[in-house]
Amino acid sequence: MTQHLTPNLSQVMEFIDRSQDGYGIFDHEDVLSYCNSQFAALFCYQTGEATGKHFSELVKHAHSLQQGIRLDHQNIDAFIDDANHKRRSRLFRIFEVDLIDGRWFLFSEQCNPRGDMLVQAKDITKQKILEQSLQNSIEELNELALTDELTRVANRRSFVGSVDSELSRCRRTGASMTLALLDLDHFKAVNDTYGHIVGDAALRHVAQLIRQSLRQYDILGRIGGEEFAVFLSNTDQASAFTVADRTRREVYQHPLQFEGSYVQLSVSIGLSTQGCNATFNDLYTEADSALYKAKHEGRNQIAIAS
Ligand code: GH3
Ligand code: MG
Ligand code: MG
Repeated sequence: MTQHLTPNLSQVMEFIDRSQDGYGIFDHEDVLSYCNSQFAALFCYQTGEATGKHFSELVKHAHSLQQGIRLDHQNIDAFIDDANHKRRSRLFRIFEVDLIDGRWFLFSEQCNPRGDMLVQAKDITKQKILEQSLQNSIEELNELALTDELTRVANRRSFVGSVDSELSRCRRTGASMTLALLDLDHFKAVNDTYGHIVGDAALRHVAQLIRQSLRQYDILGRIGGEEFAVFLSNTDQASAFTVADRTRREVYQHPLQFEGSYVQLSVSIGLSTQGCNATFNDLYTEADSALYKAKHEGRNQIAIAS
């Protein structure tokens, strides 16, 4: 038969005193009646100095020394008011607190019916570091999933996603918008003459030239092998033509320099300007036929969808 033994108080206290976690008990008037050394250290006290002090006094002490728990508030009284509002608002509360030295603690507050409160502070720094590195990895993966590896501009998926959100916005404002499709001219010949590595460098070079000639809010993406697309929101045909022609000239006037020789590059551009009810497919289909026309009429030029 199992025998249930009641641990004696001194045994419990010994474990608490040796614990890596902080323990403190506040009475119903918020005076600290007991704490271990880990808890006292959060407020920059030795164990014996902290007991008998009011919660607000502990907070003010850490704040005045700028050590222990981080209190970035200019107005410490306002912080204490806010904390008092939350303390004892529920029987059990849990929240994260960071320290000036970079550590993180998970605080839990447990009240009894008389209003006394047991506070436990558990060091969660390791978990926080792991959480941060996972968050960074997620952000990097998202960035990779949305960016074209070669040219570092948006890939097709990301471009179409951005344009879709922009289309919804345009619909609300009723403004017209333009899609420009840009395709490098005779690019197969560049690869055949200079090799694939130079071809790749040319794509990076052109992506940068296009980016430089656009305005801040224009959306650029690489949507195929040697095909780029630009979405110009709130832009009528005349302004779109100005932007497109600046881009065309920029590419033509800046050949890629490679081992002392110059690789002449050019782009043909098809433009479609439509009202706020157009879909991405409407714009793409029109811009694509305009691009075909620009190619057919001699390349290094812009054609506007009729
Ligand atoms: P056009 O003026 O009619 O567009 O002629 P073009 O030669 O540019 O068109 P075509 O479609 O015949 O050839 C496109 C070439 O682009 C073929 C392909 O190898 C090259 N290309 C596509 N993606 C890449 C890439 O990532 N790197 C390199 N180096 N070349 C690429
Ligand atoms: Mg092409
Ligand atoms: Mg081409």
